Amino acid sequence: MKALESKPVPGTICVDTDSTYAPCSYLICRVRPDGTYSTRDEANTVLVQTDWDYPALASTFGWRAGNTGREDPDTWEDLPDCQCWQHTDGTVDCPACGKTAAEFITEAAEFLDSCSDFVEDPGYFEE
Ligand SMILES: [Zn+2]
Repeated sequence: MKALESKPVPGTICVDTDSTYAPCSYLICRVRPDGTYSTRDEANTVLVQTDWDYPALASTFGWRAGNTGREDPDTWEDLPDCQCWQHTDGTVDCPACGKTAAEFITEAAEFLDSCSDFVEDPGYFEE
């Protein structure tokens, strides 16, 4: 369990990990009517195992594919910043700057690892 930054409101979702129950996966957890959630509550969790799903999941929590502060590996000159989210959802290479899907997925995973927000469910749980 993580330290909570925003308050768990019933029906909102958060993302967590549970290394013994679901290693190498993220669990989308829905907050129950009593304001708690559990990674072991199957009725209120969705397992996300596929790397390719990480960018979409991260964007649910406010992450955006982007490219800032990169240098040209040959010249060490600053490359122009790129708002990659305007060109890619993070699962394909950015056609504008060439940043790869693998980099986006890595960044999305890093974002999810430190994410402790609760957000409205965009549709992971259908009633
Ligand atoms: Zn880009």
